Amino acid sequence: MQRLAQKLRRAGTRIGLVPTMGYLHAGHLSLAREARRRVGKSGVVVVSIYVNPTQFAPTEDLDKYPRDLQRDLRMCRAEGVDVVFTPSDAEMYPARAKTQGQRGLAARAASGHLRSTGFSTYVVEENLGRVMEGAARPAHFRGVTTVVAKLFNLVLPDVSVFGQKDFQQAAIIQRMALDLNFPVHIIVAPTHREKDGLAMSSRNKYLDAEQRAQAVILFHALRAAQAAVAKKPVPAARLKKDLKEFMTAAPLARLDYVEFFDPATLQPISMVTRGTNMALAVFLGKTRLIDNVRL
Ligand code: AMP
Repeated sequence: MQRLAQKLRRAGTRIGLVPTMGYLHAGHLSLAREARRRVGKSGVVVVSIYVNPTQFAPTEDLDKYPRDLQRDLRMCRAEGVDVVFTPSDAEMYPARAKTQGQRGLAARAASGHLRSTGFSTYVVEENLGRVMEGAARPAHFRGVTTVVAKLFNLVLPDVSVFGQKDFQQAAIIQRMALDLNFPVHIIVAPTHREKDGLAMSSRNKYLDAEQRAQAVILFHALRAAQAAVAKKPVPAARLKKDLKEFMTAAPLARLDYVEFFDPATLQPISMVTRGTNMALAVFLGKTRLIDNVRL
């Protein structure tokens, strides 16, 4: 991948990267379309598909995360994606290697390209990653920043597109690119939703029919908050209390957190007005869904 990227860049070809964990949906494809808009017809759009183990806690859904590479490839082909990059765990994190990819690494090690196997360097953003998703999932963003830094070095993109669906992740990646001088332009593209408003997510596949019907409560909660602050500011504490009450309409849903925050610092805001950012995480059974909006 890196050799191909270097060759493309030497030829002056623009590269657009969309990092994903696969099991693609229309939201992912909208990011690929945005990447195409940015690099143009003569550019190369790369979609990476990698279920990154370092961003999952041991208690989380790494093993059952949905995967269907053939379907993903068909969707990418139909969308006009030029390159799909699907590294193995052995390639990304040599020490974690179990079976696949070992031979290739051994061959490269023998030829001197790889002096030692193993993996011991991580990238950590130390501020924006402490709240919300970072508080709920302590090792999560370290895994995200590390794998995205690796993908940037492998794919050498001019632009990389992330979804607003994961607002905090996009903010942390922007911070990382700025702090570590990655020569890549970060684009944040809008959240793609199902007809009823549920944000598209690979994890929606986990939901049974009843849970799926009630999952729309995330979107309805965002809407309710939007309506509540449309005319006058409301204290965050009161709005949180009202939203907890509001969510009892979906008995299968258990609120993990709801936060009102400043979009630049991600720090909590005590008085919520139009334009304040809101994010929430909700469990439906074992499935954890997130959503956010600017009110
Ligand atoms: P994932 O495969 O879930 O890790 O997501 C890969 C990228 O797609 C991330 O930048 C996400 O923010 C983005 N993404 C996920 N769901 C959506 C959606 N419904 N609309 C737009 N982008 C999304």
